[in-house]
Amino acid sequence: MPNPTQFRLDHYPSGPKMTGVWRQTSDPVGSPDVGEVRVELAYLSVDPGMRGWITPKRSYMPPVQPGEVMRAFGVGEVVDSNADGFAVGDWVTGFTGVQTEACLNAAMLRKIDISHFSPHLYLSGLGMTGYTGYFGMSDIGRPGAGDTVVVSAAAGAVGSIAAQVASKLGARVVGIAGGSEKCAYLLDQLKLDAAIDYKCGDIEGQLAATCPDGIDVYFDNVGGETLDAVLALINRHGRIVVCGGISQYGDMDSVKGPANYLQIVAQSVTMRGFTMRDYLDRIPEAFMALAGWHMAGEIVFREYMVRGIEQFPQAFDMLFSGGNHGKLLIVI
Ligand code: NDP
Repeated sequence: MPNPTQFRLDHYPSGPKMTGVWRQTSDPVGSPDVGEVRVELAYLSVDPGMRGWITPKRSYMPPVQPGEVMRAFGVGEVVDSNADGFAVGDWVTGFTGVQTEACLNAAMLRKIDISHFSPHLYLSGLGMTGYTGYFGMSDIGRPGAGDTVVVSAAAGAVGSIAAQVASKLGARVVGIAGGSEKCAYLLDQLKLDAAIDYKCGDIEGQLAATCPDGIDVYFDNVGGETLDAVLALINRHGRIVVCGGISQYGDMDSVKGPANYLQIVAQSVTMRGFTMRDYLDRIPEAFMALAGWHMAGEIVFREYMVRGIEQFPQAFDMLFSGGNHGKLLIVI
C-alpha cells in the first residue's frame, strides 16, 4: 500500500479563486479506537455542495475547519474493526473525507451490499445524489401527467435523475445543459422531450420556444439568470424546487437572488428549498425505486471517473466549468 494521502482545507476561499485552498498531506493512519473501523477508500464523491462546506457561514452543516480533512462522501472496505457489527471485508459508505484510508466512527457509516450493485453506484444513482433527484422531483416538484417540467444542470448527477423521475411521472421534460454533447445526451440517452443549450444564450427565448404552454415545475440546480428566465414563464400555481444554485457558488459573499421574484406573487408560485437531511428516514423508499428502475434498464446513471486522489483539486474545479459528464467520482 502507498502512504495514506489526505486533502485538508488550508484556508477558506474568497471569491472563485481556489489556488492554495487545499493542502495535501500523508499522515499515518493508526489502529481504530473503540467504536471505529479502519477503511480503505475505493471511490470518493466530488460535489458542488463542498463549496458551501468551505464557506464559514450558517448552513445546513457546520463548515469544515482549516486544517481538517476535507469532508466528502466515499465508499470503501473495512480492513480493521474495533466496532460491534462491523467486520473486515464489509463495505461501507458515509462521510469518509478526501483521503485514501482512515479510522472512522462506525456509527456514522452505513454498510452497503456490493453483491448486487458496484460500490460506486452508492455514490451516484443509488446514493445521496440519486435520492436528491428522486425526492426533489417526486415529493416537492410533484409533476402530473402532461405538466411541463424544466430541469437545469440536467446532464449532471442530480439533474439527470430528477429529469428522468419527471418523465416517469408522465411530465413533458425540458433539460438545460451546457454544450451540444450534453444536449444530445439529454435527448438520445435520457429521452427528454427537449434540450436547451444555455451556453448559446437567450435562455428565455429558448424556454419560450420549447415550453409553449409555460412551465409548471422547475427543478433548479443553478439559480442566476436561468431562474429569472424560468420565472418569466412560470404558470399559475407552479412549483420551483430549489436544489442548488451553482452559478452563484463562485462568490458566496455576493450571491444574487432572482430579479423576477414578483412572479412568485403574481402566479401564486411555491418555491421550496430542501436538502437530503429532510428525507433521511425515507432513504429505503428512494433506494428501492431507483434500484428497481436501474435493474430494469429504465433509468440511466452516468458517471465521470477521475483516477487518483491527487486529482482532487482539478476535479473539484471541473464542476464549475462543466467538465464533468455525469456524477463526478474519484477512483482511489
Ligand atoms: P453536476 O454533476 O450537475 O455538476 C455540476 C454541473 O453544473 C456542471 O457539470 C455544469 O454543467 C453545471 N454548471 C456549473 N457552473 C454553472 C453555471 N455557472 N451555470 C449553469 N450551470 C453550471 O453536480 P450535482 O448534480 O452534484 O449538483 C447539481 C446541483 O445540485 C448543485 O447546485 C448542487 O449544489 C445541488 N445539490 C443539492 C443537494 C441537496 O440536498 N439540496 C444535494 C446534491 C447536490 P453544464 O455543463 O451543463 O454547465
